[in-house]
Amino acid sequence: MPFRKPEQIREADKGFEGSEILLVEDSRAYTVALRKRLETDYGMKVTSCATLELLASALEENPDRFTLSLIDLNLPGTPSGEALDLVSAKNVPAILFTSNASDLRRKQVLTKQFADYVLKDGQKGIERLIEATVRILSNRSAHILIVDDSALMRDMLSEQLLSQLYRVTSVASSRQALEVLDENTEFDLALINHLMPEMNGLALVEQIRSRTELDDMRIIGVSTLEDKSLAARFLRAGANDFLIQPLVIEELRGRVAQNIEISSQIGKLRELAARDYLTGIYNRRHFFENGPRRVALSRKQGRGQALAIVDIDHFKLINDTYGHEVGDVVLKAVACQLRKYCGHSHLLSRMGGEEFGILISDCSFADARRFCEFVRYAIEFLLIKTDDGDVKVTVSIGLAEIADKESFDNYLNAADQFLYMAKSAGRNRVFSETDLAVRAVA
Ligand code: GH3
Ligand code: MG
Ligand code: MG
Repeated sequence: MPFRKPEQIREADKGFEGSEILLVEDSRAYTVALRKRLETDYGMKVTSCATLELLASALEENPDRFTLSLIDLNLPGTPSGEALDLVSAKNVPAILFTSNASDLRRKQVLTKQFADYVLKDGQKGIERLIEATVRILSNRSAHILIVDDSALMRDMLSEQLLSQLYRVTSVASSRQALEVLDENTEFDLALINHLMPEMNGLALVEQIRSRTELDDMRIIGVSTLEDKSLAARFLRAGANDFLIQPLVIEELRGRVAQNIEISSQIGKLRELAARDYLTGIYNRRHFFENGPRRVALSRKQGRGQALAIVDIDHFKLINDTYGHEVGDVVLKAVACQLRKYCGHSHLLSRMGGEEFGILISDCSFADARRFCEFVRYAIEFLLIKTDDGDVKVTVSIGLAEIADKESFDNYLNAADQFLYMAKSAGRNRVFSETDLAVRAVA
């Protein structure tokens, strides 16, 4: 399976710090090596138990503190996977490890609930166990939708996926699934059964795929294979994968993990493509892809909005005086300030060069104007630390109200023209339609 290497995971994912891991292992050398990696490299907290008795007492007090347990199947005195029974009774998810794959069968654990298992052989075994630990902990950020009219199947699937730490929502019909997806488009994967009354799974997949905001959600169709063409029809309708009932748990685990992995990689690539390399804020492409949609939504909901273009004054002079590198530091500092003030409320992007676009949402034009004045003022008084000493800059801002049903480009053009007027009126100022009126009167 194309799971991520530990190095890549460390770069990409944070959030393991403070996760408490319960390690059940009698080999001291293995315990020391594992603890060192999990604690030093990932900031996890490891509690280890070398016997079943020690495990029982560790679980007595506040077992909820353990996010995950790692269990050696060959712990002495546990002929039938008793350690797994103990942690399961306290709802602590488990990764099993053993040096011998047939142990899984011999110890009768295959019928029990566990998150994953790993074969342990020397150093490679430790790496595999760490990879599995990180992978299972990462599952916490993945949200899976189960659509099945059978309560039995829903429960079975939920239990399986919850034991792997996924977030799970389950619904009993296609109609309910569409309702849930109306509210929340952030699901990473949907497991959709075919045979359901009213609207079958295939029709649901077609409906989902007609909605672009759900493009990134992976879909696995599920059904018995009485109709041999069904898998192909599911894939044609836009499903990414297909599972045959009765389900083989190993296959379910593998396919879900693979699809979640692909979804996470696509998400990361999308995020990377949407960001400006220098400042880390959104880029022009993201602004143009998302701006019009946000404008249309706000208009539908009757909320006020405005478009601002912020341009650093005499930026060329900064480059000419201090050099390009200092210029870059200034750009990053200004972007960082803008990001701070825009937060998640307003869509900010670097339009190119020393120019930034802000789609100001959910406020009256007077408030948008005040916001721009505040931003202008904050940047005027910002001391930017560089290798060549402190540098100060000012910005000019063109602000257009989004009131009628004109195109996004038109509003952007209007903001651009107001920016030009702000520049010719002396820079370090906000210019909008209201200034035009004042100017006409004067
Ligand atoms: P005005 O007040 O009229 O906006 O003048 P200005 O000097 O800010 O505007 P102008 O468009 O003449 O110059 C912008 C400069 O920004 C020119 C370009 O070399 C520089 N620039 C564009 N992108 C970058 C970048 O990524 N890093 C650095 N350091 N400079 C950049
Ligand atoms: Mg400029
Ligand atoms: Mg410019």
